[in-house]
Amino acid sequence: MKKAGILGGGQLGRMLLQAAINYPVETFVLENDLHCPAAHLCHHFVKGDITSFEDVYNFGKDLDVLTIEIENVNQEAIELLEKDGVKIYPSPAALKIIKNKILQKQFYKDNQVPTSPFIITQNIQELEQQINFLPAVHKVGTGGYDGRGVQVIQNKDDIVKGFDIPAVLEKSVDIKKEIAIIIAVDDKDKTAIYPAVDMVFNQQLNTLDYQISPAELPEKILWKAEAIALKVVKELKSPGIFAVELFIDLDDNVWVNETAPRVHNSGHHTIEGNYCSQFDMLWRIMLGYPLGNTAPILPAAIVNLLGAKGYTGIATYQGLEEIMQVENIFVHIYSKKETKPGRKMGHITILSKEKQELIHQANKIKQTVKVIVE
Ligand code: ADP
Repeated sequence: MKKAGILGGGQLGRMLLQAAINYPVETFVLENDLHCPAAHLCHHFVKGDITSFEDVYNFGKDLDVLTIEIENVNQEAIELLEKDGVKIYPSPAALKIIKNKILQKQFYKDNQVPTSPFIITQNIQELEQQINFLPAVHKVGTGGYDGRGVQVIQNKDDIVKGFDIPAVLEKSVDIKKEIAIIIAVDDKDKTAIYPAVDMVFNQQLNTLDYQISPAELPEKILWKAEAIALKVVKELKSPGIFAVELFIDLDDNVWVNETAPRVHNSGHHTIEGNYCSQFDMLWRIMLGYPLGNTAPILPAAIVNLLGAKGYTGIATYQGLEEIMQVENIFVHIYSKKETKPGRKMGHITILSKEKQELIHQANKIKQTVKVIVE
């Protein structure tokens, strides 16, 4: 039986382990937090730091395959493990490019992948010299996650909000739509592409409202987006699961925003909505089985359950009973003991043939379900 390790023990690891149960595989998780979402679902939990060379190397050295659920893992350790013969998904070389937004943008440029024009800034003084490039979005090279490390710089007055560390300054795109496309790549470079997902944002709060799949897009734009996403993955030359986030602008141009080299929030609906989920797919890849069927069973929407504003402490979930009376609703609670404002605590998936019904139910979930404290 193969031994498979996951670096990180959050909800992505948790859902990956749920899918692992169906396969002949012995699972290992490396994570500092003994009570993390993945801790109780693996065969072997190892307490340790994913950013430490020793911890990652010692964790990985007896494994057959290794994957990540967060990008900022110790790079030198996974490079050495790869040399030792451990199969790593994604490859350390691909991860190195993606984990730094400066290298990632440069990679798109070098490979003629459409992405918004950008300038690299080392510090705030260099940002100050780019007034003519505004409006733009400033993003830290490393260390940013889920909106932290991203600042919109509309004009001169916003420059104080910029970062005083190496960062990219990207031209603002006039976004009509944000979509994500998940692509699976196996060891023989075979690919399988999931239907595009619409990421619908709350304009006022600038938070993700809900996601719907398949995305509603004219065929020509969809084909363009799929071709671009495939090109990104092909040039990364790595097996694994990749989520390519794209912008469609007001003139229907398609731009790559960023890529995640792992299972992704924009693919959670695939657990119930598609024949082969993104998690099942990653096991197929890591264990050397054929790729699965990415087709949807039914259109799906997901709503993230975020910790409500004003509540910090032991989490409780309000409104689940009411929402679970709705047909084809699937609740996923990540087993995080403590909530805080904005923390991802779970998600809910809805399946329906009718798009209007998906939107209606997504809004209902947002109004009904609240993560608060006991
Ligand atoms: P994170 O990695 O933290 O999710 P992103 O790079 O995806 O950060 O940026 C977060 C959000 O900021 C995007 O979803 C998008 O709405 C907005 N954004 C990012 N880059 C641009 C851009 N070049 N032009 C306009 N909006 C952008």
